[in-house]
Amino acid sequence: MSTRGNLFIVSAPSGAGKSSLISALLKDKPSDKQVSVSHTTRQPRPGEVDGQHYHFVDVEQFKALIAQDAFIEWAEVFGNYYGTSKTVIEQTLAKGIDVFLDIDWQGGEQVKKLMPYAVGVFILPPSKAELERRLTGRGQDSQQVIDSRMAQAVSEMSHYAQYEFVIVNDDFDVALTDLNAIIRSQRLTCASQQYTHNGMLIDLLAD
Ligand code: GDP
Ligand code: ADP
Ligand code: 5GP
Repeated sequence: MSTRGNLFIVSAPSGAGKSSLISALLKDKPSDKQVSVSHTTRQPRPGEVDGQHYHFVDVEQFKALIAQDAFIEWAEVFGNYYGTSKTVIEQTLAKGIDVFLDIDWQGGEQVKKLMPYAVGVFILPPSKAELERRLTGRGQDSQQVIDSRMAQAVSEMSHYAQYEFVIVNDDFDVALTDLNAIIRSQRLTCASQQYTHNGMLIDLLAD
């Protein structure tokens, strides 16, 4: 059985819950799903682990990686650089593992151009007030950072229609069920099933 994993682009305004949804998805360390760990020049938040949440690098190291063509996409978001490294993604998909990119819309657009088979999922908060409550409740960013993220939220959300799927993260469990439904449906597309059941299809269709 040969399989190829699906590539998911997950975007949302900061605080809508995309990291929480992706972590819940990967909680039991499923062998068929993996999140891509980005490089960033942002300072680690309390509790963030280098190599697990991000690869934390300085601006000089980030620019060297750009020069080495190490990224499939990179963007400046909220004054910091963020980038997705190339090699891990192709290798992981080739093993039949689904890969999740937690990236902003600019990155999503770049990936979609290079890999049109990538499936876009946009996460929306139920309201602006709730988004601000979540950013504040997360308790990890200064008021100044929260204000700038709220100011950017409308611009990020204005790109929702470029994505194939939209999830409203109001009740967390419902949103997680929705995300799982999207993932499952992608495994059932004709193209995916042709990859997965190639041998069986040859047998079934032989005269
Ligand atoms: P369509 O086939 O006529 O719908 O249009 P395209 O071939 O241009 O795009 C295919 C799908 O990709 C559509 O559902 C678009 O909404 C979606 N899409 C376009 N741009 C982006 C993007 O930047 N990110 C993501 N995730 N999806 C996009
Ligand atoms: P993002 O990765 O999109 O910036 P997070 O996953 O860090 O967002 O979520 C922001 C905050 O909102 C976190 O404190 C998280 O626990 C909380 N949160 C996420 N989803 C929900 C939800 N459906 N209801 C209430 N709080 C939520
Ligand atoms: P945070 O600092 O809250 O972890 O992330 C801030 C924003 O940067 C989010 O919108 C997140 O999706 C985006 N982001 C994280 N990693 C990448 C990446 O590798 N590339 C791009 N383009 N955006 C990223």
